[in-house]
Amino acid sequence: MGVFIKNEVSVVGAGTAGLIAAKELSLRGVEVSVYDQKKVLGTPVRASGILSIEGLRSLDINYSRAVTNTLYGAEIHGGGRTLRIVSKKAVAHVLDRKALNDLCHDEAVSAGATVELGKRLSGEELGRLADGGVLIGADGAVSSVARHFSMGEIKRYAITYKAEFEAAAYDERIVHLFFDNEEARGLFGWICPNSSELLEVGIGIDSRNGNCKAAFERFMRRPEVLGAIKGSKRISGEASMIPMALRRRLVDPEHEVLLVGDAAGQVKPSTGGGIVFGGNAAKIAAEVVKSKLEGRSELIDYERRYRRRYRIDTWIHSAINRAYSSMSNTQLGLAISASHAFGIDAFLGRYGDMDMPTRVIRNLLKDMRISV
Ligand SMILES: Cc1cc2nc3c(=O)[nH]c(=O)nc-3n(C[C@H](O)[C@H](O)[C@H](O)COP(=O)(O)OP(=O)(O)OC[C@H]3O[C@@H](n4cnc5c(N)ncnc54)[C@H](O)[C@@H]3O)c2cc1C
Repeated sequence: MGVFIKNEVSVVGAGTAGLIAAKELSLRGVEVSVYDQKKVLGTPVRASGILSIEGLRSLDINYSRAVTNTLYGAEIHGGGRTLRIVSKKAVAHVLDRKALNDLCHDEAVSAGATVELGKRLSGEELGRLADGGVLIGADGAVSSVARHFSMGEIKRYAITYKAEFEAAAYDERIVHLFFDNEEARGLFGWICPNSSELLEVGIGIDSRNGNCKAAFERFMRRPEVLGAIKGSKRISGEASMIPMALRRRLVDPEHEVLLVGDAAGQVKPSTGGGIVFGGNAAKIAAEVVKSKLEGRSELIDYERRYRRRYRIDTWIHSAINRAYSSMSNTQLGLAISASHAFGIDAFLGRYGDMDMPTRVIRNLLKDMRISV
């Protein structure tokens, strides 16, 4: 059993959320150590990386070296209908997840954090780290930190399976989303051009709705998917898990423990995307921890600030997820036709915001005032 250096702050988990927290704390002059069970960060690559450009900017990371493609919109398929939402300007980047993890690591280390790899922490070690200072659990969807400190459950998870293929001729600017509540209730299937050479095909379902790998194999037989991959070779295949709701408690004030990222359930339930919410939560956590170490605030302020900033947007993302998950495939088709008839595709092409639905309303109001 290793002996830990007594640090002001320890972070368990060197994913994007843990590393952003470590960097932000180090920049504020706080001594931080990060521990991760993996020997090589970011591998295996279980998750994709589609991030809105605005969301990426909000993370204050130098992300350009991880960008592999740029997206201008999406085609949404369901019940035999298609809605095409395309913007004139770029809306999202696709990032190489290992490169993203590596750059977050390099930025944390340059800022002064220590990162120790190949270190899976036991319950006893977690207890000792919390005794030595503030402990941040950034250890993913199945968080040992949350379990050890009894921080409550995450009520809903999605399970995913995705694989990469050598890309055939394909429109690189568009991601395709497939809503099919017979095959993928709870989330959706996707085809994403990761780059000009790589296409990703994946599916996510509510964890209570059966076998994701079997659903993936059936998804692979759809004509749209067969047409997209055109017999090209499958390069990889990975299963994973996405928390679809916030954990009951984000802070244990007694033991000075807090959770960020997937460990806290900080994702958008409409898509399962968690890097922007988790990374911004990590920034709030760093501000609050620094302020707590100076005796100016309490750790619980982190939970209060996170909930205040993201409550409404998370609620809207959840409502969207509940709405599309509860429809039959025929209703999905009708909803898509109605969206087109009411011009929602044109509206979203102009005002859409992948992360913060409240910003859509703000931008619309701003535009209306300008045009009055
Ligand atoms: C298929 C799929 C597609 C996705 N697509 C997107 C997308 O397009 N856009 C988006 O924003 N999000 C996406 N997500 C979600 C995104 O991947 C997560 O929200 C994000 O990775 C969470 O980061 P994190 O740092 O909180 O946790 P993680 O990335 O899970 O990192 C946790 C780290 O903790 C370490 N760890 C765990 N337990 C211990 C322990 N006991 N001791 C030491 N180390 C430990 C792990 O090794 C790991 O490195 C997707 C997820 C999946 C599964």
